[in-house]
Parts: sequence; structure tokens; C-alpha cells
Amino acid sequence: MGDTHSSPSIIPGTSDAESSGAPAGSPAPSPDEWPGSRREAFRCDLLAFFREHRRDLPWRDEGDPYPVLVSEVMLQQTRVETALPYFERWMERFPSLEALAAAQMEEVLGVWQGLGYYTRARNLHRSAREIRQRYGGEIPGDPEELRTLPGVGPYTAGAVASIAFGARVPAVDGNVKRVLARIMDDPDPGQGLLSRWAGALVPVDEPGEFNQALMELGSLVCRPRSPDCEACPVASYCRARAAGTQADRPRPARRKGVPLIREAVAVVRAGGDSEGRVLLRRREDRGLLAGMWELPGRRIEKDEDRAEEEARALGQALLATLGEERAEIRDVSRMQPLEHAFSHRRMRYLPFLLRTELASAPTGDGRALRWVVPGRTGDLPLPAAQRKLLVRLATDGPTRAQLGTGTSTQEK
Ligand code: SF4
Repeated sequence: MGDTHSSPSIIPGTSDAESSGAPAGSPAPSPDEWPGSRREAFRCDLLAFFREHRRDLPWRDEGDPYPVLVSEVMLQQTRVETALPYFERWMERFPSLEALAAAQMEEVLGVWQGLGYYTRARNLHRSAREIRQRYGGEIPGDPEELRTLPGVGPYTAGAVASIAFGARVPAVDGNVKRVLARIMDDPDPGQGLLSRWAGALVPVDEPGEFNQALMELGSLVCRPRSPDCEACPVASYCRARAAGTQADRPRPARRKGVPLIREAVAVVRAGGDSEGRVLLRRREDRGLLAGMWELPGRRIEKDEDRAEEEARALGQALLATLGEERAEIRDVSRMQPLEHAFSHRRMRYLPFLLRTELASAPTGDGRALRWVVPGRTGDLPLPAAQRKLLVRLATDGPTRAQLGTGTSTQEK
């Protein structure tokens, strides 16, 4: 930090206008308009809090940009507690950027599975390969160069550049947005304004520490629903606290209705296979859950009575693809439906167990269709709802998994 910190002269609860010397009634100055001494005092108060309360996280203090990049991508839509075990597993499997670049996509998706938002894993893998090709395997420290990598936006670029390379750039994530919106008592600050405020506050000396401190404050103290203003190190700067408007800053986004999509699912089983193998299909390389494996499904309209017919037709088409067009489906039984929430849609899976007269599961080339024993899928990348359906098949068997009223599950 440039200036020497003098003790803040601001008394908790006083207004910005009073504490910054702005005339009464004039608009409150924003951080980029604060006097240097006030910015410096804010930084010192926040950094002192961070030194005392920072969580001991495995990607901190490594001095290596690779774990910082991995953790920042994992944390884009995921809480720290959720991401931690995935991060540990990831670093065991791909301990370096080179190891990640050399891995196959399916292996990468397998390690990521369960964390959701799989595009992040694909982008991280593509980024590793681009860094190997364009930068000789060295992660660039320039935020503009970082932003040219797949899936790296202003936040991730700012976080990696400041934390791993000491660049004086802001990193505005959801936590930082909330803290700054409350500091300024602004219901809906745009991205440009937030970047300006955060950019003015970031110090020259410890930009990475400062950015992490703001995020940590948002995560531990300035929480979305119940901010602990009594324990807040920057309460004296906070206009929302003075106005009692913390709960509405930033203004909660209006939730849009999400469509419900129904899918008939064909659980094709070789009748004579003693291990109960079922047929999985690989999704296309584009779109939602690209490249992951699933029990084959077919979208249906609202009329769920058509689901059985659709599942049977799909099962027969799959057998034909395997060169078993003469194999008949001996019987069909309805399984328990499953509902699953994605961020922009809800899915209702209507699975049907289709027992075929095949004596055993025919071997294919395994690239687009594959037979698996439901309880032994290993690292095969499977979306959460598919895993749940397969666990049911494995634990309940074909009979008890059938005919329920349906359950629901939720994942990002
Ligand atoms: S005083 Fe309260 S609302 Fe304001 S920044 Fe601190 S925790 Fe958040």
C-alpha cells in the first residue's frame, strides 16, 4: 500500500458525506472519489481483518498460478466448502498444467463429475492446452492475455492476475458485488461501476491479498441474508448499514420461471446378462452436459402417457444401432420418475426398464454406446441425475426401483 495508514477518523455509523468532508446534501462520494487517506484506511482495516480471519485454503500461498486458476474456475458457481474435496482430487489427478493438458476430456469430466456446470471443466482443459501451445506451458500473468483463454472472464482474469502475479487489478465476484453495493447503498450497481469502485480500492502493494479479503468479507461477514455488521471491519464506511437497507442491497434478482421438460428414458437391459448391464449413450460434444454419459432419453410433450411408447421405440432403435434389430423387447416396467433442477430448466425423467431377449450385452466400439453394470461405473462422467438413476438400479434392483411416486433432486 502506498500511503501510511493513519487510524480512521471515521466513527461507525457516520455518513460518507460527514466522514469524507463532502457538503451535506451532496451525493455521497464513491471509492474512486474518496481522499487517498480514506481509501488507505479502508484497505488497512480490511487487510487486518483478513490476516486474522482468513481461512486456510489449499490454493492459497502456493506461489504457483496453476492451483489459483483451478480454484478460481471451480469457485465460479460453487461454494468453497463444496469445491474443497473436488480441488484436492483434481490436484492429485492433474498436479500440473502439463498433466491436465495431456489428459483426455473424458477423464477430466470424470474427476469433475458431481460439481456441476461442466462447461467449466471443458474450458479448463482447453485452456491448459492453449497455454501449452501459446505460452509454452506458463500461465500468463497479464489479465488481458488471461481473458483470451476459454471461460476466463474479467473476474477470473482479475483474481488470477492479482493473486498469483501481484497485478493491481480488481476481481469482482458475487461477494465483492454485495459488499460494494452495501458500502455504497446502491441497489443495482452495474459491472462498470463495480469495477471502477473496486479498481480504486485495490492497493499497489498487496492486490491479491486485498481482493481475497473483500471476497472473504462477503463470504464470512457480509453474507447475503444475515450480514454480521457488528463484526464488520468496514462498518464505518457502510452506507447501507447506516440506512438499514442491507437486506435490499443489492436488490434481489427477480426469479424467472424455469420450464419443466419431460423425458422418457430407455433403460435397456440384456435379459440374460447375470450382472444386469444397462446401455448408456454418450451425449454429443456440444450443448448441455456435452460428452457425458446417460441412460438414453427422448423428450416428450406434456402427455406422460406417451412416455412408455417413446421409451420402447427408443430402446428398439438403440438395438438396431447395435446391429440387434431382430432382438425383441420382452417386457417393459415403469420405474420411479426422477425430477432434477438445472439452473435454467427442470427435468422430469420417466424411466422404463426394457428387458430384451438378448442373452448377453453385445460389445460395441464403446464410443457412443456402452454397456455398464449400474453399480460399477467408475470414473465414467455421468450427470448427477443419471448417477442417481443408476444407483437406484444398483441398490434396489430392477424390481424395487419400479413404480414409485417420484423423487426430486437438485443440482447446479
Ligand atoms: S456493515 Fe454490514 S452490510 Fe455493511 S459491509 Fe459490513 S457486513 Fe456488509
